[in-house]
This record gives sequence, C-alpha cells and structure tokens, in this order.
Amino acid sequence: MKILISGASVAGPALAWFLHRDGHEVTVVERAPALRDSGYAVDFRGPAFEVLEELGILEEVRAHATGMTGTDLLDADGAHAGALPPEIFAGELEVPKREVTRILHEHTARTVRYVFDDSIDRIEQDATGVRVGFERSAPDTYDLVVGADGIYSVVRRLVFAPHSEAIRHLGLSGAGFSTANHLGLDHRGALWQTPGRAVYVFSAADRDRMSVSLSFASDSPALDLLDRAEQERITRDRMAGAGWLLPRLLEDMSAATDFYFSSACQVHLDRWSEGRVVLVGDAGHCAAPTSGMGTSQALIGAHTLARHLAASGDHTKAFASYEQELRPYVTENQEIGREGARRFGA
Ligand SMILES: Cc1cc2nc3c(=O)[nH]c(=O)nc-3n(C[C@H](O)[C@H](O)[C@H](O)COP(=O)(O)OP(=O)(O)OC[C@H]3O[C@@H](n4cnc5c(N)ncnc54)[C@H](O)[C@@H]3O)c2cc1C
Repeated sequence: MKILISGASVAGPALAWFLHRDGHEVTVVERAPALRDSGYAVDFRGPAFEVLEELGILEEVRAHATGMTGTDLLDADGAHAGALPPEIFAGELEVPKREVTRILHEHTARTVRYVFDDSIDRIEQDATGVRVGFERSAPDTYDLVVGADGIYSVVRRLVFAPHSEAIRHLGLSGAGFSTANHLGLDHRGALWQTPGRAVYVFSAADRDRMSVSLSFASDSPALDLLDRAEQERITRDRMAGAGWLLPRLLEDMSAATDFYFSSACQVHLDRWSEGRVVLVGDAGHCAAPTSGMGTSQALIGAHTLARHLAASGDHTKAFASYEQELRPYVTENQEIGREGARRFGA
C-alpha cells in the first residue's frame, strides 16, 4: 500500500520502519523544517525494549543513556528531605529525546520518503482511497493515512474531533529550559515542591548544564498556545514568593535559548480510526508527560498497528484489532499520567 504518515518524531518513524519492512511504500510529512531538537529526556519501560530490539536500534539508543542515579527531594528551603530511586523519573532507560528521534530518522531515511516543512491541510476519503492536500506539496492520494503528529495532531482535528473535544487538561502546566548547573548535580535530579508548585532539575551528560522544569497548578490548555513572553509572565507570576533557587531560575528562564512550555494533557477519543485514517502515539491517546510512558506507548502503538496490518489484508479489521489490543495499556498509562500530575501539584 501507499501510506502517508504525518509526524516524524517517535511513533511516525518507528511505524514507517515496520511498514517499509512489510512491503509498503511510505511517506512521512513533518511540519518542522528539520528534526526537532527537544531539550528533555524520555524514558523507556517494559515491552518498549522489545520494539527497540526489533527495530534494530536498542544498543544505539542505549549508548545515549543519561545514567541518572536518582532524585533528591528538597523541602521549601532547599534542604534535603529524602531521595527517589532512578527508575521513578528515568524509567529503565532514559535518553535525550533528540537522540531517539535522530536515530529513528537515520534508521529509516534511505527507505522512507521524508518531506519536512509541510503539513496536511485537507483529507477526503472514500472506499477507494484518501485524497490529501498539503500546505506546500501537490495533493496526492494514499491507501492509508496515519496521524503520528502529536498532541495537536492535524490529522485528528481534520478527521476525528476539534482539539477542545479531544484534549483533556490535567491541571498542571510548566516551563522548561536549560541553564548553568547551579547545584553541581552529577547524573542526579532534585525535586523541590510546595503546594501547587514544583521544580525538577537534573544534570546528566553535560556537567556544566542542568535541565529545569517549573510546574504549577493551572486549568487552561490555552496557555500552551500563548507566545513566549506571556508564558514567561504567567510562570513568573505562579512562582512568585517562592524561595530557594527560584529567583535565579526565573532570571535564567528569560535568557534561555531552549525555552518550551507545555501542559500536562491527555487525548481521549472514542475510536482511533475512521475509514482509512488511523492515529498512533500522542495524536491518538497521549497519556501526558507526567505518565513517563509516552515514548514507550508511541513505540508500542506503532509496533501493534504494523503487526495487525501485516496480519490482516483488510485495514478495517487491522485498525479494530489494533485498538482492541492497545486500549487497556493506554488506559493504564493514562491513569499513571493523572497520578503523576497530582504528584506535581495539579
Ligand atoms: C516536556 C515534556 C516532557 C516529557 N517527558 C517524557 C518522559 O520523561 N518520558 C516519556 O516517555 N515521555 C515524555 N514526554 C512525552 C513524549 O515526548 C511523547 O509522549 C512522545 O514523544 C510521543 O511521540 P509521538 O511521536 O507520538 O509524538 P510527538 O513526539 O509529539 O511528535 C509529533 C511530531 O509531529 C509533528 N507535527 C505536529 N504537527 C504536525 C503537522 N501538522 N504536520 C506534520 N507534522 C506535525 C511534530 O513536529 C513532531 O515532530 C514528554 C513530553 C514533554 C512535552
């Protein structure tokens, strides 16, 4: 089949690899002009390791392990109040996300057609195929279209539901960036918390730098769509009056070149496929960053979808059995995501 995948992060390239292996002709369209340089680390747990192995990239991914040794818990004044083992925040294996995306892309670049700096903007389907319009490229027709384009998936919005219906906010938002390693952390994290506010910092490969995440209770996914100046203003506002290292971190935030802002959100849909269009990864069933399961889920989702397509010549049956098999795993991860948001102050 001729298959179009929207999104070149984790789920998209992983699925592309399996589909090419199984004899399909695959194109991946990515809105960003090049692979995204995400600043945070992602973790792998449980059956995700089997998928990495089948993809043939487990050792290459493992070579980029952050090697975290755990997280110190700090009280409001920054005094040591306990410690968490590494698996709580770093899973069984934690790797910078940019390395995962790069490895998956390199692994597929010769066999899959990648189109950067473009996006689907129209989808029409009937029993024979899916006609797709793009912002830049000429329209084309595909046998199947897969949305692997993340929490704000355009495929989901065009075919399934508006964002406001599909996205569920978990009551937590926050800013992230990197700065000088003020705490002298060495392959270690620190978690500072007061009611409704949390700061998580860690330093791994680069001893001079630490990653910072400032989170606070909030109730609006619309914060994610504001510009940086507004997001910084709101973050500063919510962190106001906090002691410890906060005044310094808020100054560093303004100077950061890798600032990002995101809310803990989940995607809930009654079904993950519609005719010849199907969703995978965060686009279809995001469990929220607070679950620590998003990357494993994206890989397992891609593998499950490819396996059912290979087992059944009929995409309708394959999509139904993919969803039936994956839903219990997603439901469990989404519960972990809600618990995680509560732990961070939602
Ligand atoms: C701050 C933060 C921290 C996180 N921490 C962790 C963690 O510790 N552990 C963990 O497992 N997970 C974590 N996650 C979640 C994890 O990053 C995701 O669950 C995982 O990347 C999902 O992969 P995906 O391929 O489904 O979607 P994404 O990684 O979101 O990728 C979607 C891709 O689609 C592209 N795209 C978007 N719109 C379009 C369009 N219109 N057309 C074409 N392409 C488009 C995007 O540019 C992107 O490349 C975190 C997420 C965030 C935001």
